[in-house]
Amino acid sequence: MSTESGKLVILSAPSGSGKTTILQHIIRDFPQLEFSISATSRAPRGAEQHGVDYYFLSGDEFRQAITEDKFIEWEEVYAGTHYGTLKSEMERIWTNGNSIIFDIDVKGGINLKKIFGNRALSIFIMPPSIDELRKRLVGRGTDSPEAIERRIAKAATEIEDAKHFDVIIINDDLDKAVAKVESAIEEFLS
Ligand code: 5GP
Repeated sequence: MSTESGKLVILSAPSGSGKTTILQHIIRDFPQLEFSISATSRAPRGAEQHGVDYYFLSGDEFRQAITEDKFIEWEEVYAGTHYGTLKSEMERIWTNGNSIIFDIDVKGGINLKKIFGNRALSIFIMPPSIDELRKRLVGRGTDSPEAIERRIAKAATEIEDAKHFDVIIINDDLDKAVAKVESAIEEFLS
């Protein structure tokens, strides 16, 4: 698979939509898809590891990489916190002969789709409702109440952007959502 012809699957969703769980199923079921490890300026959470979950950079290192044009896309996803996809990461995966799967915010997903056109399948995971989203974020127990409210406010605007995605899948039943996502990916990769 080369830089000119490699394929991409983009998974975007408001935080708390079950995207990460769906992603874990996809990675298990599609050995030809390799996860794009993003760079971020936020600190590691829990058991997260550098080079596995993210490339953890300082704010200065992140800004330096922007200046050096190392990102295919980047966003300030939360105030003061940057996330981005390194061009070198995409090269790394394509050089391995794999297609790339992205867990990326909604704006980033739309940007990648614009850049890569029909080499990319963009999938939006829709939460069943804002109330359900709040329940999941509280249940996850990883964010402060303020962070949860920030994520919810952002989710409301992200849902507006779902129409820009190739496929929209409502996650009201995890098993069914996984099955639908996987059949869309299977069709795209075949
Ligand atoms: P978290 O802090 O929960 O790991 O991620 C916050 C958000 O950043 C998620 O919506 C995630 O999809 C998004 N994100 C992760 N990596 C990237 C990236 O490389 N680019 C963009 N634009 N968003 C990303």
